[in-house]
Amino acid sequence: MPTPERQMPRRIYPLRVLGMGLGGMVVGVVLWERQASFPAWAALVLAALVWPHGAYLLARRSADPYRAEIRNLLADSAMTAALVPLMHFNLLPSALLVTLTMVDKITTGIGGLWARSIPVMLAAGVASAVATGMHWAPETSMRVIVACLPVMMLHTLSVSVVSYRLIRKTARQNQQLDELRRVDSLTGLYRRGHWEEQAEAALRHHHATGEPACMLMMDIDHFKHINDAHGHTVGDEALRALAHVVRGNVRAGDCAGRYGGDEFAIILPGLQARDAMAIAQRIREQTEGTRLRNLPQLRFTSSIGVAPAQRGHASVREWTDAADAALYAAKNAGRNRVSGGPDAAAPLVPAA
Ligand code: GH3
Ligand code: MG
Repeated sequence: MPTPERQMPRRIYPLRVLGMGLGGMVVGVVLWERQASFPAWAALVLAALVWPHGAYLLARRSADPYRAEIRNLLADSAMTAALVPLMHFNLLPSALLVTLTMVDKITTGIGGLWARSIPVMLAAGVASAVATGMHWAPETSMRVIVACLPVMMLHTLSVSVVSYRLIRKTARQNQQLDELRRVDSLTGLYRRGHWEEQAEAALRHHHATGEPACMLMMDIDHFKHINDAHGHTVGDEALRALAHVVRGNVRAGDCAGRYGGDEFAIILPGLQARDAMAIAQRIREQTEGTRLRNLPQLRFTSSIGVAPAQRGHASVREWTDAADAALYAAKNAGRNRVSGGPDAAAPLVPAA
């Protein structure tokens, strides 16, 4: 597959044809105004019309098209600078073309290319001034101003379009990175770090408004045994299936995360303990009823601890400890049950 670096000559070719063509038109108007000699016209035709195709061939035929294209970009700068004495330093087109060729170096994104182009341009400018005999006529006529407009407008617009695309792409990639940072790749649930941030926000909201919020902490029963008996692939499938059950039982404003290993944690804002217990029961029942595609005979269960947020919880840590304590009460009471809520002493036993 061609890398972006190998594709560079093909990408730059049409831009160079257009840029050198439009720039050449500006220089042509100046040369025509000052009734330039044949060598000056020959130099312009070479730079504006022949060079873009030559540059493309050079880069395509090179064993290292990327380096060849960098040389070409520097040659663009040299040629542009050499045209300035040819135009007898006509102010507007000279300033415009030198600026645009610098902008082109900057927008390649190649580190330091614009800085490297400065001595190249100075050398080419001086050499051209010496060769042409150094004439000074900086006034710009209305005709030349008009000839400058297309290159000025097209160049500015094309650079803006490129930056716009780049900004959009960067924003999209940042979003994807953020998503990767927040979401656990195996289960699709939030990772612990993001889940904890959400839990903190829910606890702050509870402290500020007194509105209820509940935390569910769940853990697969004897998960090690599933891994040991059937392998980690089946274990992973069970984790994904459980995450699916969890997702099916939370609302848009809830926050379900993978707390670690086979442990999942859910924040349910706005719910009283009784309602949270009902949701936990539903998740427990659906876990029991889950069948894996690769091993339909496998049965597995989960234990769930429920802890309502309380004024006494100074931090998420204390809230999590309460949910953990409820979870271990469920484990100790025989697993496959829900514990905690308004009456932590009586774990809800599964229906017989
Ligand atoms: P208990 O009923 O007391 O919870 O028993 P358990 O066997 O489930 O014990 P525990 O919860 O401590 O076991 C967690 C196991 O989860 C240990 C680890 O090997 C396994 N595990 C952790 N992360 C993954 C994972 O991403 N994939 C798989 N397949 N297993 C994992
Ligand atoms: Mg477990």
